Amino acid sequence: ATPTALLVGTGRGSQLGILIRGPQVLEQTRKIDTVVLDKTGTVTTGRMALSSIALVDGQVERELLRLAASAESGSEHPIARAILEDARSRGIDVGSPESFLSHTGQGVQAMVGNHLVVAGRGSWLQSDWGIEIPESLAQAITQSESQGKTAVVVAWDGEAQGVLSVGDTVKPTSREAVELFRRLGLTPVLLTGDNDGAARAVAAQIGLDDVRSGITPQGKLAVIRELQADGHVVAMVGDGVNDAAALAAADLGIAMGAGTDAAIAAADITVMSGDLTTVGDAIRLSRRTLGIIK
Ligand code: ADP
Ligand code: MG
Repeated sequence: ATPTALLVGTGRGSQLGILIRGPQVLEQTRKIDTVVLDKTGTVTTGRMALSSIALVDGQVERELLRLAASAESGSEHPIARAILEDARSRGIDVGSPESFLSHTGQGVQAMVGNHLVVAGRGSWLQSDWGIEIPESLAQAITQSESQGKTAVVVAWDGEAQGVLSVGDTVKPTSREAVELFRRLGLTPVLLTGDNDGAARAVAAQIGLDDVRSGITPQGKLAVIRELQADGHVVAMVGDGVNDAAALAAADLGIAMGAGTDAAIAAADITVMSGDLTTVGDAIRLSRRTLGIIK
């Protein structure tokens, strides 16, 4: 669904690439006191790369990558893209899975040949699949997370086979954006489905300390509702399918234009660039436009 978009401040709004769903949105920009930021793809580039691989005894790196990449080939997640890119760059033949299911905020499952492959968060593999994580892999997960990375556990036929460590980088303007939000009187909060180590590493780089990590898409919605129940008027900035419910529930939902259609459809404001400072500009511009109208 394409929202009937209005460009605020006309010339300036379109110059900045800010789309506003309707005039009622402007009023919301004045009331907000909290800005919740999704991590992956919003604060960070979302262009992830594979940095290390840990294997259980007897497992082979190329086989792990082949099965993981084939299983991930149906996913649009930045993690999936990183794994596929790495496998292809090594000349590994990545096949299409016979069947595929994506579990938002958790991982993927796929039939690759005659293997049922599951790749995703270790806690999800344990709780939903009853897969045990051996000590050597648990250590690899801890190490990966302490470096601010995301650990993807890869299992097939009910056994964990290895851990792929992936990470991305903070966008160059994200820190400046956090300062801008503060100047606008907004308290920044980082919200992510990712692990606490990765979340804290990013939070330190952008200069904020309120971090909510390991949050499922439904949990993201719950965090927004909790903040609202505490009397806050909340803006949420996100880019993913996993942010759509939270964007819709927020008093002001802001989607990054490079994000998914689901996020854009759920948002009040879309910022075409991936630059988080433009979100601050959009809020400032909307408030100013309101000042002129009234
Ligand atoms: P974020 O809130 O940072 O955008 P998501 O909610 O998309 O993160 O994902 C949360 C976690 O779920 C990821 O950090 C990862 O551990 C796991 N995950 C999600 N999608 C995938 C996937 N396609 N493959 C492997 N793991 C995934
Ligand atoms: Mg995201």
